[in-house]
Amino acid sequence: MLENPTTPAILIYINIRAFNLGHNMAAGFKDLTTEEIRYYHSLLTEELTDFDCGDLCKGDNGGEPYCCKAEHAVPLLYKAEFEHLKAMGDLWHEWKPVTGEDKKIKETASRDQLFCECKGIAHCVRDQRSISCRTFPLEPYLDRRNVIIGLTFVRDFTQRDPDTGKVKCPMTRRKNDVRQEFVDAHFVFWEKIMLRREEEFETYVETSRSLRRERNRTGRQFQVLMPSHLKESRMARKFMY
Ligand code: SF4
Ligand code: SF4
Repeated sequence: MLENPTTPAILIYINIRAFNLGHNMAAGFKDLTTEEIRYYHSLLTEELTDFDCGDLCKGDNGGEPYCCKAEHAVPLLYKAEFEHLKAMGDLWHEWKPVTGEDKKIKETASRDQLFCECKGIAHCVRDQRSISCRTFPLEPYLDRRNVIIGLTFVRDFTQRDPDTGKVKCPMTRRKNDVRQEFVDAHFVFWEKIMLRREEEFETYVETSRSLRRERNRTGRQFQVLMPSHLKESRMARKFMY
């Protein structure tokens, strides 16, 4: 549950995704199946780094990774993903809203998604992590043509936590420590899921535009981690911003 429901960070992140999923509901999309979830999970097995990046943030967060605490991030799972993971063990349960604010957040989930909570880092099972866990802290970046050209850090987690004054996810300042194998594999995953679900595509068109708008307005830079096959692409660089 949310210990601090007013924490702005993940709420913004979740609301953007949920809004777009709700939009797609009207379009009559076909829900993902557990077979598809198994396939997507199989694409998301690369490690983010060569070391345990939790060591970078645990010290400032009561000994737990920042991104694994429900007050910082409540993962949104596909219902088929929840079913798949429940068949594997009891790591996940549906998130129960407590406050009025929580309840409003819960309502933003689309018909085929659920806000979920895991039992905590002490019980984490690598193969039972959700897509949200596996992809964090990166999401796709689409260029001015709305073509995916790489991954970028989830913007909210590049900011400082108001309680600790520390950057929420320290990895967002360590681009060079992200394994290229992770970027390459996740690029494939994002390409596939955006083709499968239009709302995911629309979500990231909008978040990418918003990064560019902010860059133009304030000069704030953002990182784009490119897959191996696009590193030398002049087209990708030409339309990046
Ligand atoms: S991804 Fe970021 S927030 Fe999560 S454990 Fe690694 S450094 Fe900490
Ligand atoms: S399943 Fe593991 S990686 Fe995902 S939030 Fe829970 S502890 Fe973190």
